[in-house]
Amino acid sequence: MPATSPLQVRWLGRVPYREALALQYGIFNHGHQQHLLLLEHPHVFTYGPSADLANNLLCDPAQVGADLVEVQRGGDITYHGPGQLVGYPLVNLVAKHGAAGPADTRAYVCSVEQLVIDVLAECGLTNSGRLGEFPGVWIDPHGDSPRKICAIGVRIGRGATDRRTMHGFALNVTTDLSFMREHIVPCGIADYAVTSLREEGVEMTMQEVVDVVERLAAKLWGDGESDRCDVAWRHRPEDLSAFSRGEGAGKPVRMLRRLDSAGVSSGLTISARKPEWLRPRVQHDASVMRVKQTIRDLDLVTVCEEAGCPNLSECWSQGTATFMVLGKDCTRACGFCLVDTHKPAAPDVGEPRRVAQAVQRMALKYAVLTMVARDDLDDGGMRHVVDCLNEIRALCPATQIETLISDVKGSDALEILIAARPDVLNHNIETVARLQRAVRPSAGYARSLSVLARSRRADLKTKSGMIVGMGETTTEVEATLVDLASVGVQIVTIGQYLRPTTNHLPVARWVEPAEFDHYRDFGMSLGIGHVQSSPLTRSSYHAREASEFAAI
Ligand code: SF4
Repeated sequence: MPATSPLQVRWLGRVPYREALALQYGIFNHGHQQHLLLLEHPHVFTYGPSADLANNLLCDPAQVGADLVEVQRGGDITYHGPGQLVGYPLVNLVAKHGAAGPADTRAYVCSVEQLVIDVLAECGLTNSGRLGEFPGVWIDPHGDSPRKICAIGVRIGRGATDRRTMHGFALNVTTDLSFMREHIVPCGIADYAVTSLREEGVEMTMQEVVDVVERLAAKLWGDGESDRCDVAWRHRPEDLSAFSRGEGAGKPVRMLRRLDSAGVSSGLTISARKPEWLRPRVQHDASVMRVKQTIRDLDLVTVCEEAGCPNLSECWSQGTATFMVLGKDCTRACGFCLVDTHKPAAPDVGEPRRVAQAVQRMALKYAVLTMVARDDLDDGGMRHVVDCLNEIRALCPATQIETLISDVKGSDALEILIAARPDVLNHNIETVARLQRAVRPSAGYARSLSVLARSRRADLKTKSGMIVGMGETTTEVEATLVDLASVGVQIVTIGQYLRPTTNHLPVARWVEPAEFDHYRDFGMSLGIGHVQSSPLTRSSYHAREASEFAAI
């Protein structure tokens, strides 16, 4: 990667610690760009294996609403939470500085400290600096009462051409400092005074601080240039589907208002004539009818029908279909999706066997299983998907299986599927960072990237997809491709959004075929093994061919 590449800056909003860690590992292991992830964590205490929790953890984390996470790092217990700006630079020090770059961890830590010191100076705090051998940034370090405002902890890879960094800094902006003062002994140092920008009399919003960090970090790691994408700055509980709020089936989501607040205020009417390139080839011949009969006979559900896929007759005439397991009703309410939001029924224990029988009857060499999101189940539906996988393998051992899954709320349940090792693990990121809240309010950009990163870390062939034409810009699609490539995604699908009904998000524009070609070429130039990009591409469109193209 040329040293002049812009710094890829992402504001990711509030991201659970484990998800951010998975995302960091993804970029640490596969990234080729200079990234700076900026985010807040929900309340969490983290500690290294040598931490003295008996003396330094002063509360029951659950009682104060915090997670407790062990991390493979040195040092004792520390805290992250809302109001604290966490920055994870994932930069290649060799690409930026050549072989003569910061030779050791201390030199790199100094450069991160200096960045924070410069940021604080721009924010009006000119009295910050270093305090002896203690890493981090302090206010009045040489005065009577030095106070720590920013913690720093880093790791540097040891590759000859890619000495990549991870972890980073945690700057208190409006942090509730009682978590550090009352609930832990931060870093095991009892007289460790802490402070924040707010406590020092600086009233700045997180967004304003992020703007300063972006500008100065771009000078440090991007030669003055940055490509920045932000998720929505506010996320309200009422944006989530009723199930994600734990309230059972309920009110419709406020799609248009969310879209408007994401900067997309106009769209095409549902009756707007589709361009020629969006007219699918329709042929209901005998082979289509045979697939239909098999699906009916075995009482199965396909996403082809449930989502009103425009490729149905093409795929079915070739004997391909995508089975949707775990029922017809979804616990989420994405603004683009035709699948109904209702209280779902319990998983059908006979379904795995019937799916396998359908695969056998249709003589599929490659089967795609997708699922509705099942936030009502403790395992997010993963055991049922694995049951389907096992039944297909028992009946049709030569058939390859792709699983297109929800994000299972970023939970450990994903490991159930990973352990079953599907031939391809597919999880769609769906849209760019800015539109996530408008388009899929129960999901998240960082969460989806972390799911993909975990799949790739387990060495599974990993796939994702996007729909375009919902108000995103070309630059944002490119940035999303950069992020997918950076966590090691090997197959990407990109297709035009088609509005299923007037209750769904409007189409912002028809994306021209040449633009789809551009996305394909751009994605492939980033090292993604296969990018299937065309107006009618859907996640499972030509899935077998895509999998064959993308060498692991
Ligand atoms: S593209 Fe996928 S969902 Fe659409 S018809 Fe083909 S297999 Fe079904």
